Amino acid sequence: DDQLDHLSDEIREKVQNHPCYSEDAHHYFARMHVAVAPACNIQCHYCNRKYDCANESRPGVVSELLSPQQAVKKTMAVAANIPQMTVLGIAGPGDPLANLERTFETFQTLSRDAPDIKLCVSTNGLALPDAVEELAKHNIDHVTITINCVDPEVGAKIYPWIYWNNRRIKGKKAAKILIKQQQKGLEMLVAKGILVKVNSVMIPGVNDQHLAEVSRIVKEKGAFLHNVMPLIAEAEHGTFYGVMGQRGPTADELQALQDSCSGDMNMMRHCRQCRADAVGMLGEDRGDEFTMDKIEDMD
Ligand code: SF4
Ligand code: SF4
Repeated sequence: DDQLDHLSDEIREKVQNHPCYSEDAHHYFARMHVAVAPACNIQCHYCNRKYDCANESRPGVVSELLSPQQAVKKTMAVAANIPQMTVLGIAGPGDPLANLERTFETFQTLSRDAPDIKLCVSTNGLALPDAVEELAKHNIDHVTITINCVDPEVGAKIYPWIYWNNRRIKGKKAAKILIKQQQKGLEMLVAKGILVKVNSVMIPGVNDQHLAEVSRIVKEKGAFLHNVMPLIAEAEHGTFYGVMGQRGPTADELQALQDSCSGDMNMMRHCRQCRADAVGMLGEDRGDEFTMDKIEDMD
């Protein structure tokens, strides 16, 4: 894999054992998500709170919410049954870092009881700078930040509000804080040698023209991988801006944007927009085999 030639051994290893960071690895290694994080600290226009966080996961899906204890039990059961399972991620159903206790209790127990499993987390970035130290302590090698913009004008069209210092902040002011936190979090993670994947949701007419700049900036700051995902806009997932009819990009539009970003940024092209409780190899979902009911029966 030429993409990896210039990397240090340590970073190369981190890339090669995570199915999302290496197109190659996704044929050999499996991942699972546990949905332990119900709350969120921002509002994205494309989010419908009835469903999983749309920043990492497939919209329109409701995952089974687990307690940290259940999540640990499930992880152990999956690891015992799927030997390729190398990575455990927390990606929802809300923002993992808006649920610090639940998220870190899960990580802490797993890093103690199953030290071989790699831990990863995805976040909208608002609470990231304050969490970096703790993430590093749990040996988390991979973090995904969803960054949809670097310009508050654009951000105000994507995020109606954020919840910040116990207050709801709206509009451009909110977007400015969110962007600042995301960029700061990115820099802090890179400084710690944690691999960062940036997810961006491509929203035609809103940030599609802007994402090449986002890609350039996050690359400059040391993000390892950029994953541009299409907005999946279907009436049953809710509205965007409170109006029906915001469309998602066509496959050609998505590919054109990925191509234009690709320069020397690594673009992820094999993301499957997994569920917040996905289990198995990418593209295969064995979550139904490992519901809490079935896991209880395994004992
Ligand atoms: Fe929804 Fe995720 Fe956005 Fe929070 S960060 S509003 S859960 S899409
Ligand atoms: Fe990997 Fe994409 Fe699935 Fe996340 S949503 S586990 S990045 S394939």
